[in-house]
Amino acid sequence: AAKRNGGGSHRFFSPEMEDRAHARRALEVDLREALETDGFELHFQPLIELATGEITTCEALLRWHHPERGPIPPSEFIPIAEDTGLIAALGDWVLHRACQEASTWPSNVRVAVNMSPVQFRDRALGRRIFSALTEASLPPHRLELEITERVLLEETETTLHALEQLVMTGANISLDDFGTGFSSLNYLRKFPFQKIKIDRSFVRDIGHDREAQLIVHAIASLGADLEMIVVAEGVETAEQLAQAKAQGCHEAQGYLIGEPMPADAIHDRLTRSASRHRETA
Ligand code: C2E
Ligand code: MG
Ligand code: MG
Ligand code: MG
Repeated sequence: AAKRNGGGSHRFFSPEMEDRAHARRALEVDLREALETDGFELHFQPLIELATGEITTCEALLRWHHPERGPIPPSEFIPIAEDTGLIAALGDWVLHRACQEASTWPSNVRVAVNMSPVQFRDRALGRRIFSALTEASLPPHRLELEITERVLLEETETTLHALEQLVMTGANISLDDFGTGFSSLNYLRKFPFQKIKIDRSFVRDIGHDREAQLIVHAIASLGADLEMIVVAEGVETAEQLAQAKAQGCHEAQGYLIGEPMPADAIHDRLTRSASRHRETA
């Protein structure tokens, strides 16, 4: 590193920054390797309908078990995949894998897939989704695509084109992490969401906090008026579950209901509850 005369305080990269940049580059190499060697896995987390307790949807969540470092959370590797463009291939893999898995589930259960804003810079996104559906023989209404406001912030021609294509595939669109962005209400007016997912940060306090209850109540009734399904994310306690229901949410997701689990475990849970329903029918 360049040390100038006197002081030496104007170096561009501090040693810590160099370490961090180095660690990122190393992870980038490993990400590429993992893509080529089938090193990723999808876990699935159930969403239930509050009125019946039935599973309506399972959200696909990426898992990466690094050969030396062990499990690395998506919050760490997805930003790197986005910066390096690897998210295109990774996102494609997730779509195909998720649709394939969902095609083995009872036909009333949908699969939800998280979409990165970077995937919307690809004009062929609609075609990619269509090909994942076709290859798995999954009807489009069984796929939910979760997007965040980060997608809608980029109101470029390409993004809008990709969104339009997405609607045309016949898949459902959900607005994820609702309430954490800038102008959520405006987006609700502009895009045809079937579902909005109230961010965990609001749901966390609904067990005891009156303000949090009022906010969730307001979002739930707004969603109902707009004919959208409103989901409470991050439900961990029985009080939160009871409040989500009392405040008018339609669905809930969280550790209390079920943690993200490997494909065979979710498959077991889905077929077990399907046969239970057949017995009581
Ligand atoms: P998200 O889409 O909002 O997913 C929900 C996250 O909350 C997941 O974290 C899930 O494990 C966690 N969660 C679920 N229930 C609870 C709960 O009761 N309590 C708490 N504390 N957490 C709960 P995860 O799997 O670490 O994923 C984090 C984020 O990474 C996701 O947030 C999503 O934005 C992103 N992500 C995950 N998989 C993918 C993917 O395949 N593609 C893209 N583009 N992003 C993904
Ligand atoms: Mg999500
Ligand atoms: Mg979410
Ligand atoms: Mg979230």
